[in-house]
Amino acid sequence: MISSKKAIELEDQYGAHNYHPLPVVLAKGEGVHVWDPEGNKYYDFLSAYSAVNQGHCHPKITKALTDQASTLCLTSRAFYNNVLGEYEKYVTEYFGFDKVLPMNTGAEGVETAIKICRKWAYEKKGIPEQEAQIIVLENNFHGRTTTVISFSNDPDARKNFGPYTPGFIKIPYNDLKALEEALKQPNIAGVLAEPIQGEAGVVVPDDDYIPKMAELCRTNNVLFIADEIQTGIARTGSLLAVCGNCSCGGHCERQATYTKPDILILGKALSGGAYPVSAVLADDPVMDVIKPGQHGSTYGGNPLACKVAISALEVVKDEHLAQNARKLGAKFRSEMQKLVDEFDLFVKVRGKGLLNAVIINDTPESDTAWKFCVSLKDNGLLAKPTHGNIIRFAPPLVMTKEQLSECVKIIRKTIEGFDK
Ligand SMILES: *Cc1c(COP(=O)(O)O)cnc(C)c1O
Repeated sequence: MISSKKAIELEDQYGAHNYHPLPVVLAKGEGVHVWDPEGNKYYDFLSAYSAVNQGHCHPKITKALTDQASTLCLTSRAFYNNVLGEYEKYVTEYFGFDKVLPMNTGAEGVETAIKICRKWAYEKKGIPEQEAQIIVLENNFHGRTTTVISFSNDPDARKNFGPYTPGFIKIPYNDLKALEEALKQPNIAGVLAEPIQGEAGVVVPDDDYIPKMAELCRTNNVLFIADEIQTGIARTGSLLAVCGNCSCGGHCERQATYTKPDILILGKALSGGAYPVSAVLADDPVMDVIKPGQHGSTYGGNPLACKVAISALEVVKDEHLAQNARKLGAKFRSEMQKLVDEFDLFVKVRGKGLLNAVIINDTPESDTAWKFCVSLKDNGLLAKPTHGNIIRFAPPLVMTKEQLSECVKIIRKTIEGFDK
């Protein structure tokens, strides 16, 4: 096996420099752990941006992948395949929607939702063609395609990638007044929102923000589009973040706290990290606007993806991952709060379920959070700063209480030995 040093040199020389990774090379993963080529073991507190909620190389998902890989991988949608329908039934019943449109990556899911929303606006709502507007939130992250970065306000994501796609109105997050005002503008087709802003640094809005947003959408005949690519599939302690504070893990009869989106976008953990699978879910009156030839993807809905997604969702239910995320998340935040109280370095902890972040006592331009993450790595725990001085902590949801206690000890030890 090549060394860590060699692996980093190769990426540096032959790969585009579109990422700035922490200096660690991963060669193996199992559950909550990953290993480098030299055999050092780490706790993974990023989980591939919450794609690996079910843990690395989950045996059940791996088996579904390898079984199907040796049977049939890809047919394209020019023909039917014998797994897609089974998956479509499973995933729509699982999340409570009439229909699903299968795609591969998260950003494609977002693009798909935008297209469905616009088409619905012209054909069902009667907005004049070319005039549809979608309301988006400041500091959003919805992916990296040309349209999606058009409504980002991250300068790195946008600069010199114009001209930008029109048709988006940006308003502040967690501000219902701003939303009410924006909805008064003509030709509004939808509101696209992350129920918790992950990339922005795990920004959790007020409890009533998302339910009220959905209600305002309904009263204004505007589609509420939830991007749950990062927050969904048990990460925040319920099946979806729009489930609110319901603790059933998403398998109840949709209790009072549930806010059903008109369009739901899923990705990441939909495959447990085994394969790129994304999905857009909606009920018939919305999904019906898409007709043959109007949208698609060569790999979307392939049998391999379908089998992987079914088993990834089964694992979430069978292993009660939402409930575990809820329990361990509360424990994690209370332990981090102790560190906030004890040490100047930690300013604040926030989050929901096992999607949490700690704010580091320095400016977003400083490299303190980066250096702290390098120290964490040296002590056996991998996490990465987002937006300079915020560190996201999001381990796989299969973590045990004992493992979490060990991780808290690692973080405490790192803080005690940290000298910026
Ligand atoms: C990761 C993410 C995306 C983009 O998903 P990709 O698979 O990287 O294209 C979109 N929205 C949110 C909220 C995400 O976290």
